[in-house]
Amino acid sequence: MSNFVSVIFCRNCNSRYVEIEEWEGKTAVIHCRTCGNREPIGKFTLGRCKVTNTELQHARDSRAKPGKPER
Ligand SMILES: [Zn+2]
Repeated sequence: MSNFVSVIFCRNCNSRYVEIEEWEGKTAVIHCRTCGNREPIGKFTLGRCKVTNTELQHARDSRAKPGKPER
């Protein structure tokens, strides 16, 4: 059985090393460990699981871009 998940990539450097670094009240601050990019997100949080390189490439290939929703 397979499951669909979403992956967050840094739009500054395309890194997959994105994590919630800290909380400001109920707002999570997501942080890129590669370039230091940071941004608060108010109504979402992140979880973590292990995927194959092939699955990660699928996520990269289907990532949303401005004006183009994720597929
Ligand atoms: Zn980055």
